[in-house]
Parts: sequence; structure tokens; C-alpha cells
Amino acid sequence: MLFNYCEGDPEYDYNGNLIDTHYHKNDSNARFCEICGQRTVFFKEELLKPWEEFEKQNNSSIFEIATTFEENDDIPF
Ligand SMILES: [Zn+2]
Repeated sequence: MLFNYCEGDPEYDYNGNLIDTHYHKNDSNARFCEICGQRTVFFKEELLKPWEEFEKQNNSSIFEIATTFEENDDIPF
């Protein structure tokens, strides 16, 4: 059973050093932690799908730019 934890609520000491992180269990349909307001693990997993699509588009545009540069190199000025 995978619990829907939040990303964690960091706790700092007076020097600003991270001393602890509190993770809270949330309902499986919760996108944000009810206690600290951080995003939940399940919400992040949902984000991965559109992010993959974005990376595909990003890669293809980079490829097009690279192809354009190669074509320019072949022109002997
Ligand atoms: Zn939390």
C-alpha cells in the first residue's frame, strides 16, 4: 500500500539549517497536503505525464534547430 505523502514540510533551526522534514499522510485524491500545503506524491506523479509530453516536444524542436545548423554548414560561402 503506497500512501499519499506530501513532499515534506522542512523544519529549520535558528541558523537556517535543515534539521528535519515532516511528511504527512493524505487522502489518495489529495493534491496538496492538508497539514502543510506541500504538493503530494500522487500529484507529482500526475505531473510526470504532461512533463514527458513536454520533453518530447522540446527534443523535437532542438532536433529541428540542429538540423537547420547542419544545413547551414553545408552551404559554402
Ligand atoms: Zn505535509
